[in-house]
Amino acid sequence: MRIDILTLFPEMFAGPFAESIVARAVEQEIVQIELHNLRDWGEGKRRNVDDAPFGGGAGMVMQPEPFFRAVESIPDHEQARTILLTPQGRLLTQQIVDELATAPHLILLCGHYEGVDERVREHLADDEISIGDYVLSGGEPAAIVLVDALVRRLPGALGSETSLDEESHTGGLLEYPQYTRPAEFRGWHVPDILLSGHHKEVAGWRRRQSLLRTAQRRPDLLRQALQDGDAVSEEDRRWLEEELETNLQDQPPS
Ligand code: SAM
Repeated sequence: MRIDILTLFPEMFAGPFAESIVARAVEQEIVQIELHNLRDWGEGKRRNVDDAPFGGGAGMVMQPEPFFRAVESIPDHEQARTILLTPQGRLLTQQIVDELATAPHLILLCGHYEGVDERVREHLADDEISIGDYVLSGGEPAAIVLVDALVRRLPGALGSETSLDEESHTGGLLEYPQYTRPAEFRGWHVPDILLSGHHKEVAGWRRRQSLLRTAQRRPDLLRQALQDGDAVSEEDRRWLEEELETNLQDQPPS
């Protein structure tokens, strides 16, 4: 996969892309990441990239020209999927990450200041992504989040592919609780079942924990998983109903 990132602040990517899975994936040529400084396509001697909003108002708006010229300088940009990072875009989910991870070439457009001239959204971007319902100062942290989430889905990027299958949000549920050594820490014990060596029973416990914590923490996700049919089996559903009923009965009356 190739990812081109258009930004006014390319230095912001140096740290996050120099470490861990993204750095390793770049080194192994699983992903190619190219940073483009929009200032290089700014107009005039001062390389201007922004101007006051038409109609008045606070702050500056990023002009369309540098975005268009920068994208047009990228080889095979016509075949790429161009994504504008914006708080007004589709809310990023694992499903969207998985969908984007199949694209061979992405171009990410980072805004700043008061945002980006609307013609970039209308005539340059194929897609708009938001990483959450809050406003960042720029698209750079959003691009870093998106790249990280994408890269870990690329074949070979993670050491163990199996660790992807049971992660939170894969299959619509949250992951079960994880423990490591020591088996007892400050009087808190790891559940006996995890020390038993019975792989089938461990798998069953993990599945039930995953269902339970999704029900307790993210009922919206569980509802969706139940609707999706194959994400939750009939056996899972029966167990969860009984468990939730028992838990409710255990609660003191309010
Ligand atoms: N005035 C814009 C609005 O109200 O929609 C917000 C502009 S924001 C201060 C500057 C830039 O940060 C945006 O152009 C966008 O690229 C980026 N940005 C801010 N919040 C974001 C979010 N939640 N997801 C993705 N990008 C975001």
